[in-house]
Amino acid sequence: MKKGNISVQTENIFPIIKKFLYSDQEIFLRELISNAVDATNKLKVLTNKGEFKGEQGDLTIDVKLSKDDKTITISDRGIGMTEEEVKKYLNQVAFSSAAEFLEKYKDDSGIIGHFGLGFYSAFMVAKKVEVVTQSWKEEPAVKWTCTGDPSYTIEEAEREERGTDVILHIGEDGEEYLEKDTLEKLLLKYCSFLPVPIRFGKTEVEEQVGEGEDQKTETREVDNIINNTDPLWKKSPSELKDEDYREFYREIHPFSPPPLFWIHLNIDFPFTLNGVLYFPKLDQTMVEPEKNKIKLYSNQVYVTDDVSNILPPFLMHLHGVIDSPDIPLNVSRSYLQADQNVKKITGYITKKVADKLKELFNKDREEYTSKWDEFGVFVKYGMVTEEKFYDKALNFALLKSNSGDFYTLEEYRDKIKENQTDKNKMLTILYANNHDQQSGFIKAAEAKGYDVLLMDHIIDNHFMQHLEHKSNNDYRFKRVDADTLDKLIDKDEKIESVLNENEEEKLKKLFEEEIGSKSDLRLELKALSPEEEPVVIVRPEFLRRMQEMQAIQQGGRVDGNDMANVVVNTNHPIFSQKLLKMRSADKKKQLVQTLFDLARLNQNMLRGDDLSNFVKRNLNLLQ
Ligand code: ADP
Repeated sequence: MKKGNISVQTENIFPIIKKFLYSDQEIFLRELISNAVDATNKLKVLTNKGEFKGEQGDLTIDVKLSKDDKTITISDRGIGMTEEEVKKYLNQVAFSSAAEFLEKYKDDSGIIGHFGLGFYSAFMVAKKVEVVTQSWKEEPAVKWTCTGDPSYTIEEAEREERGTDVILHIGEDGEEYLEKDTLEKLLLKYCSFLPVPIRFGKTEVEEQVGEGEDQKTETREVDNIINNTDPLWKKSPSELKDEDYREFYREIHPFSPPPLFWIHLNIDFPFTLNGVLYFPKLDQTMVEPEKNKIKLYSNQVYVTDDVSNILPPFLMHLHGVIDSPDIPLNVSRSYLQADQNVKKITGYITKKVADKLKELFNKDREEYTSKWDEFGVFVKYGMVTEEKFYDKALNFALLKSNSGDFYTLEEYRDKIKENQTDKNKMLTILYANNHDQQSGFIKAAEAKGYDVLLMDHIIDNHFMQHLEHKSNNDYRFKRVDADTLDKLIDKDEKIESVLNENEEEKLKKLFEEEIGSKSDLRLELKALSPEEEPVVIVRPEFLRRMQEMQAIQQGGRVDGNDMANVVVNTNHPIFSQKLLKMRSADKKKQLVQTLFDLARLNQNMLRGDDLSNFVKRNLNLLQ
């Protein structure tokens, strides 16, 4: 037996490893299995090159758990190591790269996936590590033992076949990994798509045997293979059918409803990236994207499900997998965003997503439109937050009319141009953000021949503002209740009031008394067409938007029920022919009260005591 000291540098790294990123201890398994996969792949390469001429045999990697011995063993049939190589790779290369890694990142727990600690991550959970290995070069097998201080031993060993066993003698810090379920979960998390089969003991499967009456269920033991070595994203899109994509979605998102559509990412230059991104059905009430629905892999090794520093926020609405060896992993998160490769990757994915939507839109608009409600938020969110996406998406983003029809912005502008351009040549796009609450206003606008859009998602406020901002003042959005019908789209049609000054003054007084202390309301007398309602409560667009913005800044809810204008239509016959002719002050008051309440009702402002009084008064009238 030979003894030695691993001492490329004086500092003892083992205690640091033990403590290092305690919460991410579990990565030891990924690091060790990755090494086993690498060793196996190297053997395949040597075979292909003709340098290795022996039998490859079964290359399955075994992960064995012995609770009694408190060991976890990872065995591969890869290239193995000679004694010289053990000294070189484990004592020097692995040690120095681990030391370097720790030196670099010991104060930075934000490193993505914590790649790079390598072989020595074993000491995060093991108090002693043994490596028994035999090289493909047919040299004697050797055993290397290290107990987590800088000394090690190397001795000759017995090993029947080429390959490497890494035996971890689990210490107190890693006892949880001696639970079969815990270990299996970890294997599934990190190794589900590794390219070499990984076996974790046996598992039972149920089988139907015999025929007819003799048929019975038997259980049979089979190898418990953890991974799918040939994941869908590595295949060529041309050999895949829709059902394959759906099936894979079920595999990775078993609890989600079927996806709407998907994109297969497949690029080799200027960077390598594979993956499949799915468009899920989006919850209409959702504001923030769901987190952790895209998994990042590097050469089929799981890295992380937090891709917030790699993808722009709007793409985080998608589900699926991206696999790229070109995303730097041993860097801090903030560095990632600035990385040139990451920028290119982001740009590429954004473009692919836009291309896919455009293709769907062009190919089958009806189908595309039928799903708009379930993914439109995603497109709008992307347009608001990503300049490049905005430009492309203008061609396939849809606006939904209250009539049930969908239009692109350009189509819509053409449609309403004639009827909805005001005296200043400004095109006015009318919208409602709550069909039920604004239905009175919607109906009135439609009766005048206007079209009204439904903009009822939280994102729509930003979306409309963004469109306006980008439009160079070509058009603006106005909510249907922003003004009286005549003024909503002001075409400069002058209407004279049928009331004289004196009559108007009386009318004003009556309403002032009624509105009284409700200081948020501003009274206005206007000569509108006689067909318009006698009293309308409107919320001027500009004022309302400002209030909404303030509410958002103060973190409050936007109920927008504060300031509004009460517009009394002096031309409505109810004033000239009824109210102003009435004698009884009580009757006048009653009528004004009712007209005001009706206007409030139409604007959802009649609540609480005011509403019950209104109901009571009207019931009394019926008796
Ligand atoms: P890395 O894998 O990043 O090179 P590691 O610290 O994990 O760093 O491993 C150091 C070296 O030890 C590897 O490069 C490899 O040469 C060797 N090695 C580790 N595990 C195995 C194994 N299972 N079979 C053969 N060689 C191995």
